[in-house]
Amino acid sequence: MSKGRRGSPDVPGLVERARAGDARSVARLISLVEDASPDLREVMAALAPHAGRAHIVGITGSPGVGKSTSTNALVAALRNEGKRVGVLAVDPSSPFSGGALLGDRIRMQDHALDREVYIRSMASRGHLGGLSWAAPQALRVLDAAGCDVILVETVGVGQSEVEIAGMADTTLVLLAPGMGDGIQAAKAGILEIGDLYVINKSDRDGADQVRRELRSMLALAERAEGAWKPDIIKTVAHTGEGVDEVATAIERHRGWLADSGQLQVRRTRRARDEVEAIAVTSLREQWRDVHERTELDELAERVVAGTLDPYAAADELLAATPH
Ligand code: GDP
Repeated sequence: MSKGRRGSPDVPGLVERARAGDARSVARLISLVEDASPDLREVMAALAPHAGRAHIVGITGSPGVGKSTSTNALVAALRNEGKRVGVLAVDPSSPFSGGALLGDRIRMQDHALDREVYIRSMASRGHLGGLSWAAPQALRVLDAAGCDVILVETVGVGQSEVEIAGMADTTLVLLAPGMGDGIQAAKAGILEIGDLYVINKSDRDGADQVRRELRSMLALAERAEGAWKPDIIKTVAHTGEGVDEVATAIERHRGWLADSGQLQVRRTRRARDEVEAIAVTSLREQWRDVHERTELDELAERVVAGTLDPYAAADELLAATPH
């Protein structure tokens, strides 16, 4: 079916096949997200009624702590329960690197032939909206494709971990002994975002020490009445020890989210962030046309010349922007 523009995909067909579990169509739709394709509007409209079922689990922690190994083990545990699993590996710290760096998550090959597992790494390829724009849309693709659980693994570190955690229903924070980062060095933000804390590499000395430190730090955090009390679970990711317990805790947290009303709260906050990211990105696109001189260029020159202050310039820019 021709859609006018050359190379334009057959969106209804792609969506239908993705919903039926065709992995290539799922991959193609996520590529459209990565490429910020103009067809995304149609894709998202077609997906909207079919999303909202998947439980989104964010996995964060310093490089080398065992995120990739743990994700792999968790996929196995969830598959044992008969769940369809999506894995989205994102690198928020290098939006311009492209997906190639993430492409060789070799241990994931364990599940490469399993039709009930979708594994995808993603970078935002320098698109103006960045990851806060792209990741929720990729998650919606996996969700509509029937994933029961989607694991979002962050690769790289930084404040953006917190951003990714904001996209999850349940956030797992991984720590490990002997990494030189301990809890003290773990950013304070990390201690606020965890719903479950996993002390991986507990085959090594120091795991109990990490647990003690973590316990006392979590005890200091103020929690509202009825708030979730984060679990602390020890694992050895490469043997799978403790991983079933993590899967059970994730399920328990999901139950709590639903019962407490927090699931709705988190998802509404997430949708709000997503809508905001799309709106802001679309404004930026209008302002930063690389091929043409824009209103913004003109205003910038007047600011440099001292004939206009930046606040007045911003007001003019907004006033001149069509909605
Ligand atoms: P990531 O950078 O956080 O994704 O960490 P990886 O999953 O790549 O793991 C980093 C290294 O730690 C690899 O060599 C793993 O084999 C190893 N590793 C992962 N989990 C464990 C564990 O529980 N115990 C031990 N001893 N090594 C582990």
